[in-house]
Amino acid sequence: MAEQFDVVVIGAGPAGYHAAIRAAQLGLKTACIDAGLGKDGKPALGGTCLRVGCIPSKALLDSSRQFWNMGHLFGDHGISFKDAKIDAAAMVGRKDKIVKQFTGGIASLFKANKIAPYYGFGELQPGNVVKVRQHDGSEVELKGTNVVIAAGSDSIELPFAKYDGQAIVDNVGALDFAEVPQRLAVIGAGVIGLELGSVWKRLGAEVTILEALPDFLAVADAEVAKTALKEFKKQGLDIKLGAKVSATEVKAKGKKKEVVVTYTDAEGEKTLTVDKLLVAVGRRAATQGLLAEGTGVRLDDRGRVMVDEHCHTGVDGVWAVGDCVRGPMLAHKGFEEGIAVAELIAGLPGHVNFDTIPWVIYTEPEIAWVGKTEQQLKADGVPYKAGSFPFAAVGRAVAMGEPAGFVKVIAHAETDRVLGMHLVGVGVSELVHEGVLTMEFSGSADDLARICHAHPTLSEAIHDAAMAVDKRAIHKAN
Ligand code: FAD
Ligand code: NAD
Repeated sequence: MAEQFDVVVIGAGPAGYHAAIRAAQLGLKTACIDAGLGKDGKPALGGTCLRVGCIPSKALLDSSRQFWNMGHLFGDHGISFKDAKIDAAAMVGRKDKIVKQFTGGIASLFKANKIAPYYGFGELQPGNVVKVRQHDGSEVELKGTNVVIAAGSDSIELPFAKYDGQAIVDNVGALDFAEVPQRLAVIGAGVIGLELGSVWKRLGAEVTILEALPDFLAVADAEVAKTALKEFKKQGLDIKLGAKVSATEVKAKGKKKEVVVTYTDAEGEKTLTVDKLLVAVGRRAATQGLLAEGTGVRLDDRGRVMVDEHCHTGVDGVWAVGDCVRGPMLAHKGFEEGIAVAELIAGLPGHVNFDTIPWVIYTEPEIAWVGKTEQQLKADGVPYKAGSFPFAAVGRAVAMGEPAGFVKVIAHAETDRVLGMHLVGVGVSELVHEGVLTMEFSGSADDLARICHAHPTLSEAIHDAAMAVDKRAIHKAN
């Protein structure tokens, strides 16, 4: 006999744990099933984000940034030191502690909210029953008046570069190198390639990123991408565009291994020999084995659960959220969908505004944006005006020794309503939210320009960029 719940959530990543906690807050009897294990082999809630994604990558980005700054920024401040060394194992150990703190934190939140956790793999059966194969080998069935699928995503594997966890790795392996590889190649100059490539470059690895497309970071504003690429090249990241990998071969190198990567660019076929290869060519919905015959839930051609704008699958009481459905694969997109679905289940007006989901790439300089790019507006035939302002003219950024980058504000040419904000530079992961708020409240560039910003702060770049929209920036020639 299946145990009955108001809500059964499959997956305790950002999307699933938000759905579960919000459902429980609203008085619904909730269970959450998760198959994920931590490095110690024990169940660890929090999904990709907490175990092998957002949080561990940011921990390593912060450690490596401290090390990089010692060699590249401290001297300007008159600070000198001798023999700086990086202990990669200690750095990874620090990251593991942070991961454990946060995965354990989700378990505590489940307890505090009286959510029943189930540790194992859930398969949806017809009739909103979820069969759970628990890690101890036992099986249990849970019936939900509502079932929320939040199964997340896994990294895509290339047929000619199979993961071996040693020489050829995905994000999981690249967050756990025991020592700094001398030579690291990355396939894919996307978000993971740039973030994890930066980590190991800053620590001394020779990093080559092979990107199949001819354009760098085509999803971002073209000027932002150009500035970022220039800065990454200055840091010594070797980014090869239009480079298509066709084969890899793992060879023994003494007691270790090395990988020969074959790729083709405009000049023809080439090879590159490295100690480690990170494959970061995107992620796919983790929907394999999730649905038994006859549930009525449909998958699209990319294996994602098909849903409407309210994350409903079309099957009575079955919803799906996060990376396993359409839309950007971002933790905070999953957060919002999880909350919205719990509220819809409780009869409240849950909603996610896809137009104001921010993007952040946590490189140095950071890259962030919200809303439309100039390229998109041109393609859509929307009249717009844009104003930008460089961090090189912002007192605080220069005082910090971080003058690279700029802020661009884009507004409708007739209404002045803000349609997008694009940033590259120090601290822009936080600054972008000024754009998100303005757009959520249908604000104009003039609103931003008339709001008092504290001096000296990085946010003054936004103030001046908003003024530049109408060619009245104070701190630059218009
Ligand atoms: P997931 O986090 O993937 O969680 C799904 C959970 O469900 C997993 O624990 C899985 O084990 C479990 N599961 C799957 N199927 C079943 C099943 N059948 N039964 C039981 N359990 C199941 N996003 C950001 O916004 N910011 C970042 O800085 C960022 N950095 C990232 C860095 C890296 C290296 C990676 C890989 C990703 C990063 N992301 C980032 C993306 C982010 O991690 C995902 O968008 C987010 O985790 C998706 O949340 P989710 O809940 O949909 O799925
Ligand atoms: P991505 O989609 O960001 O980038 C993949 C890159 O690989 C693309 O530029 C693509 O053109 C390239 N590529 C694809 N196939 C290739 C091939 N055969 N050879 C060479 N290049 C190839 O994917 P990702 O970096 O794996 O990240 C996956 C997702 O995880 C991201 O899209 C994002 O949603 C999420 N993520 C977000 C953050 C963040 O928010 N800061 C950080 C990491 C990951």
